[in-house]
Amino acid sequence: MYVGIDDTDSEKRMCTTYLAALLCEKLGTVELPRLIRLNPNIPYKTRGNGAVCLIVEGDRALIKKTVLDMVGEYAQFEEKKTNPGVVFIEKLNPADKKKLRDFYRRAVSELVSIENAEKCASSVGAEFHKFKNGRGIIGALAAIGAELPDKTYEIIAYRSHRKKEKKIDVDSIYRMDKETYPETFNNIDNNTGRILIFPHGYDPVFCGIRGNSKSVVEKAWAMVKPLEEIERTQIFVTNQGTDAHLRKKKIAELKPYDCAILNGTVAKEPRTIAGGHILFGLRDLTGEITCAAYKPTGPFRNTVKKLLLGDRIEVFGGISKHPNTFNLEKIRILKLAKVYLKDSPTCCGRRMTSAGKGKGYKCRKCGKRAREIRLKEVLRDLVKGFYEVPPGARRHLSMPLIRMKPKAGRSTGKE
Ligand SMILES: [Zn+2]
Repeated sequence: MYVGIDDTDSEKRMCTTYLAALLCEKLGTVELPRLIRLNPNIPYKTRGNGAVCLIVEGDRALIKKTVLDMVGEYAQFEEKKTNPGVVFIEKLNPADKKKLRDFYRRAVSELVSIENAEKCASSVGAEFHKFKNGRGIIGALAAIGAELPDKTYEIIAYRSHRKKEKKIDVDSIYRMDKETYPETFNNIDNNTGRILIFPHGYDPVFCGIRGNSKSVVEKAWAMVKPLEEIERTQIFVTNQGTDAHLRKKKIAELKPYDCAILNGTVAKEPRTIAGGHILFGLRDLTGEITCAAYKPTGPFRNTVKKLLLGDRIEVFGGISKHPNTFNLEKIRILKLAKVYLKDSPTCCGRRMTSAGKGKGYKCRKCGKRAREIRLKEVLRDLVKGFYEVPPGARRHLSMPLIRMKPKAGRSTGKE
């Protein structure tokens, strides 16, 4: 039986994955549980907009009772934004699987309503339980429907103590990263040295390590030395780091909260606004949109600043709070515009200067004149290729460039 659960956590406490880990122990699972991240631009989301799916066998009534009791016990009901949802599906025929897969593909990339989720759940014969407004059934259903043509793994360690401070041998994390990167990723922000395996919330997650295989995340965790008691660990199969949320779209097709890949031309030069954010205009045949690299994207902004009118680029990201602003996760520079500057000729060992508007140049020493205006191509301090925000500012779903390198069986080729 498929069990989908979402939205039991709050900003600071609980984590739906912890509930999943406890249920895995209680119910036993057929395969690794799935941790599915959904559209990161949705405003209603709790911390990371992650839902879980377990596949379990056994007495159906007992499974359902255990799951619902545990959600009742652990979910942070007092938190306004916490609206748990639980979905049970006993069997899926191919037609239902397809319906659920399509639902997942929308929930990971667009804005989906609770009503849509209920309709889809009913059409596949799912049993669903809404708590409070029940928004969680969107994620719960999507987690069951998720197909993972590309997948990654995360090992999550949960702690026994519930204090803010975490005790760990920090050097062991750097060693782990050194030995397992890039098969593990997002461990450390290489620009700032900041350790990223600790989540923002305090409880009950100690740390999470992400990687390309079950064995590498196990190996990485074995290298880390926590200096406090760890209650348990659980490995999840996930869509993190896979760009599962991105769809190629035209600018005119974008709806609020969409995630997309756009292909266009820089139509308004980058400018820095208050707060250190960089904005520029991108145009395709259907329209124009403002692209933003926010301050937390750090050195990524230095690349964005160098874009000039006419550069052809592909942008990866989505629309969040501001309806006509596309938040960048990464960009790919396809073609740099050629830029020319007027180049004055030289005479008597120095540059000729303007002889007046439209009159060409004049040598101030010998008086010689030159009419023709010469243009010189400006060397661009930028090269074609992919550029991404640093790991500390990266979305859970964003594929790190290090994963985009061509590998056997993976064809998201970098040039
Ligand atoms: Zn001269």
